[in-house]
Amino acid sequence: DIQISQNVTFETMLFSLNTLEGLKKSGFVRPSPIQLHGIPLGKCGFDLLLEAKSGTGKTAVFTVIALEKIDLDKGLQAVILAPTREIASQICDVFRQIGCQFKGLCVEVVMGGLPVQEDIDKLRKNKVHIVVGSPGRLKHLISDNHMDLSAVRLVVFDEADKLMEKSFLPDVKYIHLALPKEKQVIMSSATYSETCKEFIKEFVHDAQHICPNSDCVLLGVAQKVTYVKFNSNSITQTKNKFKEMLKIISTKQFKQCLIFCNYRARVREVYKMLIKEKWPAEQLYGAQDQVDRLDSLKTLQEYKCRILISTDLAARGIDASYVDLVINFEPPFEWQTYLHRIGRAGRFGSYGMAITILSEGVEQKKFMNLLSSVNFSFNVTSFWTDTESN
Ligand code: ADP
Ligand code: MG
Repeated sequence: DIQISQNVTFETMLFSLNTLEGLKKSGFVRPSPIQLHGIPLGKCGFDLLLEAKSGTGKTAVFTVIALEKIDLDKGLQAVILAPTREIASQICDVFRQIGCQFKGLCVEVVMGGLPVQEDIDKLRKNKVHIVVGSPGRLKHLISDNHMDLSAVRLVVFDEADKLMEKSFLPDVKYIHLALPKEKQVIMSSATYSETCKEFIKEFVHDAQHICPNSDCVLLGVAQKVTYVKFNSNSITQTKNKFKEMLKIISTKQFKQCLIFCNYRARVREVYKMLIKEKWPAEQLYGAQDQVDRLDSLKTLQEYKCRILISTDLAARGIDASYVDLVINFEPPFEWQTYLHRIGRAGRFGSYGMAITILSEGVEQKKFMNLLSSVNFSFNVTSFWTDTESN
């Protein structure tokens, strides 16, 4: 669980009354370490590199900094970039919630997959102060002159190391160059890869690196593995893994469960098999219709479904506070992804469990290599032989 300073409350942190009231209404009383250290420096205007475990409240860090900066009489002043549309709309919700006391504050989310005309109308009709968006759609809107960027003073890169990946980088650079030169830059992520660190230098100046807890392991998430026999026939292999998974979800008590697969096709397969077994499940993957994607996520967040099967689309940033069980139907390819996936259980200091299903042999070896390539220790134990598991 995360350490929350017992003495410090947000009320002692010298924010505007509107922000304080919004935090209170959101149920936030005491700051997490990243909030305690990040917000004051951000308010001073420093560029920030926020680095803290999943679920430690990084969103509120840049939300509060932005809200404290906003001049409601002016137009667009903050642009928030997020790698997936789901994260973008979630950030927008947080802004609206913590910003609920700012009369006239307008925060909009723009995202690909939904008609661009809707975004154009939003931006034209309303006096938008803060825009949250995916890089592709933002670039589109900027290059077609639908956004007045002249008053922008803050840009945020949420899930920064994802945004620095090849697929996003050209759009992200385009947006960065289109923004006024004088501005504050905030990057936020649970992990920063080496390549990401290289590119970050192009975006920030004398950034304050805020990393309140160098211990990257999610203390609140127990990590387990379980094995199935290797089978060279991939259909049989999937079936075997599915049986193992059924055993887990039928024996382990959980509130909500996220199941990760590496490929869309596998997501659909597992989804179908679960439905056939009469488990209430939803699925989420990139090729889906945008409305379906947001729907699947909402049903999870509103506790209307207990199991969501997803590709790594849901690995990062998604905040569903009841998720206490993460199952890796197959291990991810990168340790960063592993951390992000398991971080979906154990939001804001709650306890959870992550179980990775491995087939014996190659997959097992690969996974162990993956963990050993990380320079901090993992305490991964077997699911079935462990009795302390609840
Ligand atoms: P991160 O981006 O670091 O992974 P989030 O910003 O999504 O984490 O926050 C995780 C959860 O913690 C959210 O449900 C959020 O509402 C909650 N949270 C954040 N800050 C606080 C706080 N100070 N007090 C209580 N809950 C908080
Ligand atoms: Mg986040």
